[in-house]
Order: sequence, then structure tokens, then C-alpha cells
Amino acid sequence: MLSLNTIFNRLKRNRPRSQGSTTTGHDEPVIIPRPQHTISRSQISPHALKVLYRLKDAGYEAYLVGGCVRDLLLGHEPKDFDVTTDASPEQVHQLFRRSRLIGRRFKLVHVRFGREVIEVATFRAPPSEQDQHLDDQGRIVRDNVFGTLEQDAWRRDFTINALYYNIRDFSIVDYTGGLADLKEGKVRLIGDVERRYREDPVRILRAIRFIGKLGLLLDEETERWIPELAHLLADIPSARLFDETLKLYLSGNAAVTHELLGHYGVFDHLFPQTADLLHTEQDGFPRTLLIKALENTDKRIDEGKPVTPAFLFAALLWEPVRQKWQEYQDDKVPPIPALQRAAMEVISEQVKRVAVPKRFTMVTKDIWVLQPRLAQRFGKKAFRTLTHPKFRAGYDFLLLRAESGEPLTELADWWTTFQIETEDNQQQMVKALSASTTEKKRPRRRRRRKPASKSE
Ligand code: ATP
Ligand code: MG
Repeated sequence: MLSLNTIFNRLKRNRPRSQGSTTTGHDEPVIIPRPQHTISRSQISPHALKVLYRLKDAGYEAYLVGGCVRDLLLGHEPKDFDVTTDASPEQVHQLFRRSRLIGRRFKLVHVRFGREVIEVATFRAPPSEQDQHLDDQGRIVRDNVFGTLEQDAWRRDFTINALYYNIRDFSIVDYTGGLADLKEGKVRLIGDVERRYREDPVRILRAIRFIGKLGLLLDEETERWIPELAHLLADIPSARLFDETLKLYLSGNAAVTHELLGHYGVFDHLFPQTADLLHTEQDGFPRTLLIKALENTDKRIDEGKPVTPAFLFAALLWEPVRQKWQEYQDDKVPPIPALQRAAMEVISEQVKRVAVPKRFTMVTKDIWVLQPRLAQRFGKKAFRTLTHPKFRAGYDFLLLRAESGEPLTELADWWTTFQIETEDNQQQMVKALSASTTEKKRPRRRRRRKPASKSE
């Protein structure tokens, strides 16, 4: 496993701009007036501004909150804009024609503007002040009592996520010391760390995501509890873990985030089958393949190209699949059925932990099953494989395997040429293979004629 130093050396350092604030340690918030901070309205989505102004004009309090305020202060472009208010969800719903009330545990309002959705939440009180709706592990089971702005700040996860941008005077409101932490580049859980992780163990994944994505460090106490409490992730519903896993691996910093997950002993709880094998095989090609795949993913995200979760899962689960595939082949199962069997087993085990939806696992399987298909090039087979709807992903995966040290360079190069050649040259390429010894044509079995039936 890489040392933390190596991991952090790889992180893009995004030191926050100076904010000139300190925490008071009292209940009074630190308020940074507009001239003393860097957030300008031109950086805020016009739709979010519309929502904020409409709420304000109707007499309600309205703030931007969470990731968008944090990201703007760090000089990043926010992924989305969340609004919080003292208006009830029903009151918000009444103000916006294109809005929907959503959520069961806690009602929110989604206001739609074309493709952009602004989420509006009513101030919420921390669970400790909601007559303790915790289960025996300390997890929150009910969480739906409205509160004040101050209460809303304290129930949030990290101090850097509890900063509010007030539309009334464009100031920033900080109850929990988030500005000072941003300045120091620290991710700090609000309140008693152990209790807050126990309340919602997904905060462990969020902590790791934020340091991977933002290049910040974990506060010592926030860091210390992670290895000890990571096992609590076992109790989180697999559908929620799927959402969080996607966020971790599609953050644009998947390679670093993955190393961090390993370092803190969290990867074991998300991908136990892969983790077991990576523990025994420290620097072999399985690790290389995964890191290369993640670096490619990061590069594509950076270039604004689409990435498919199916490919990501193909890489994340390849090693257990590859090993099972080999075992079945050793037991004389032919390559394609052997791979299909291995794929099915590994996926059905994985979805118990992280519920990857079928629409992705089907493509993941296609990518894997294309691997033995790509190795069979005689007759019409190569031509058929080329028309497979997932050929491109399968070929990219083959390249990845070759680059990571599996002995497949010749095969990968062959396909690189084959797919861009004219049909005549492609025919030649297939013919030329007959001379090679690596791929023997299987002798055709002569089919015996059915004996004519006597009644005919
Ligand atoms: P991102 O850039 O990924 O959107 P974010 O911090 O905005 O980061 P969201 O999941 O959009 O993350 O959540 C919005 C805000 O809601 C957070 O900033 C935080 O204040 C609060 N929040 C989210 N999840 C939790 C949680 N598990 N416990 C407490 N507060 C949370
Ligand atoms: Mg967000």
C-alpha cells in the first residue's frame, strides 16, 4: 500500500484563498461581509439566484449552503447549488411552479429549470435534539425535525460543508469554524467524531471523497476513527453504497481516492473480493491495471469526455474474475463459458455489498466476455466481434490488460490495426494468422448425417 505521503504528493494542492477569519468557539457565528470574501454573484448559477431571491422577496431567509459555498471559496466550479431556508417544504413548493416535493425521511423541494435542478431544504435540527432517533449502533433512523439556521449548521457533516451564503447581504455565515478549516486545508467532522461516524457511517466515505477531490487533509481526530469504524459500512444499504461509490470513483480524482480508500482500510468494505486479492498481490499487474483504468477515467473526466461506470466496474472486479476464469479453464471448461460463469459469480457476490444496477453489470459482463472473443480471430470471428455493440469498450479493456503486463501486446496491436484497415486488408490479416502457431484453427467436426427415418 502506498504511504500517505506518496498519496498526498500526487494530490493537486488547492490551497484556499485567504479568508481572514477565526472561529469564536461561541454560539455567535462568524459573519464575513461581502467585501471580505471572494464569492461573487457572477459565479452562482442564475437559477439558484432566482430561487434565493424569490424566497427572500416572499419574506423568508434563504442561503446557499454545502458543497457549492465550499467549492466557490476554494476556487472550484460547484457541481450543483443547494439552497436552505426557513420556509417549510410546502411553502417552497407553493412559490415555484416547476417544483416537486421529494423524499420520505426528510422532505425537500426540487425546483427544475430545464436540466438544472436546485434543491431547496428547510433548516433541519440535529438528531440529538430530536429525542434521539438512533438505533443500537448509534445510526440515525429518523431525521425530520425542522430547526433554526444554527441547528442546521451543527447537524451537517464537516465544518467546510456548513458555510452559508446569505442572499440578504451576500455575507458568509459560519457557526462551526469552517472558514478557519478551509484556510488550513482541513476536513473536520463537526462535533464528537465517533458519534457522528456512528450516526451515519457514510460520512467515512464522504471524508475520503473530499480529501481526494479537494486536495485537503483530514483533521487528526476525524482521521483517527476511520479504520476503527469502517466496518460499520456493512450496515449501509447497498443501493446507497452504490451511489457513494460512483461519487468516489467519478470525482475526477479516482486514482488518488482509490489509494486513500485502501490506506484507510475502507476499500475492503466496498469491494471485498478484489481487496482480498490485492492484499496478497501488492505490486503485480492487477494493481497496475486498476490504477491505469482509474487514471484513464480521471483523464477522460478532465477532458469532459463521457465515462461509463460499466468500464469502471469491469476494472475494479477484473482480478477476482480473472482468477476464477483461470480456475474454471484449469478444470477444462472452455474459455467463454468459463468467463461467463466467473463473471456471474463475482457480480452476484459484489451486488450484495454495492448494488450496481443491472444496466451497468450487463455491459461489464459484455466487456469481460469480449476478452476471450477478441482472442479468437479465425474465419469470420474477428469480423463478427468487430460488430459487437460493446467492441470499443472490450478493445479498450484488452489494451488496458496488455499495458498492465498481461502477455497480450501482439493481440492488442493486431486489433488496433484490424479495426482501421480496409476489408481486403482485414481478410489478409485473418489469412496471415493461419501461419502463426499461436492460434490453431479448430478442426471442423464432421456432422454425421441423420439416418433417414424408416417411416419416410
Ligand atoms: P458535492 O460536491 O459532492 O455535491 P456536497 O458537500 O455538496 O459535495 P452533497 O451530498 O451534495 O455533498 O450534500 C450537500 C450538503 O448536505 C453537504 O455539504 C453537507 O452539508 C450536507 N450533508 C450531506 N450528506 C450528509 C451527511 N451524511 N451527514 C450530514 N450532513 C450531510
Ligand atoms: Mg452538493
